[in-house]
Amino acid sequence: MAYTLTVGSVRCHIISDGRQLSDGGGFFGLVPRTLWEPVIRPDERNRIPVALRSLLIESDAGLILVDTGQGDKLGEKEWRRLGMAPRSERLVGELRSLGFQPEDVDTVLFTHLHMDHAGGATRWSTPGDPASPVVPTFPNARHLAQRIELADASFPNERTRGTYFPQNWQPLQAAALLDVVDGDQRLATGVYTETVPGHTGSIQAVWIEDGGESLLFLGDTCSWAAHLERLAWVPAFDIYPMQSIEGKRRLRAQALARNSLLVFQHDGQVVSGRLVDGERGPVVQAEISEVAWEDE
Ligand SMILES: [Zn+2]
Repeated sequence: MAYTLTVGSVRCHIISDGRQLSDGGGFFGLVPRTLWEPVIRPDERNRIPVALRSLLIESDAGLILVDTGQGDKLGEKEWRRLGMAPRSERLVGELRSLGFQPEDVDTVLFTHLHMDHAGGATRWSTPGDPASPVVPTFPNARHLAQRIELADASFPNERTRGTYFPQNWQPLQAAALLDVVDGDQRLATGVYTETVPGHTGSIQAVWIEDGGESLLFLGDTCSWAAHLERLAWVPAFDIYPMQSIEGKRRLRAQALARNSLLVFQHDGQVVSGRLVDGERGPVVQAEISEVAWEDE
């Protein structure tokens, strides 16, 4: 489901590549299940619903898409593991529902290159046919990736190999559509990135600021609202957990000072919200929520 928002005069849309099921321990790391279970109820296999959100920004520098979801280049085994139906065009379907075509996207920004963020940037030229060539999904877009991220993705280690797949970016390189960037980027008037290492070595969050309003798309710098309230809650996926904590502390202070609208990329319940003072520190007051499980 797509949500349309305005930040000052900038129109943007939270769109989604659907939901997957992931082991709760992945997102809550060292936190015991007894503590995180009240936040999100797992199923009988300890899996929790995980949203795959992207941000689409109608900027003065054209249409900017932040992240591309899992995409469709997965086999039956992977779909089953993710608890997803092998449907095609989830994200692109939402784009079309807003009146845009993949050809209309001018910039694709990767917060990082994990499979659930970069997978949708390329597709099989014949849908459903793994033998067909892999081609860019957004053929007219400049795709931006951080240099350190691309290096880490290109030379993965035992721990990161399961989420970095060259077919998600090599076809972009072959088509000369991938721009390698270093550090914080200004993408358009009032649209810029902030590198916040932790989840990966150079992951970036995205700010929109206009007319005294601001929005922060946190990506995996803080993928669930509860992780911003409790700084020590860091996903097991994060390769530099202590840096994640410091990054969240910094972003939280900025968001509080600016009363920013926060968009959570993976939270199965809280799509967006704002920080307010709570008894034991800042808490996220949800503005857009979704139900975690259909039977709720
Ligand atoms: Zn992710």
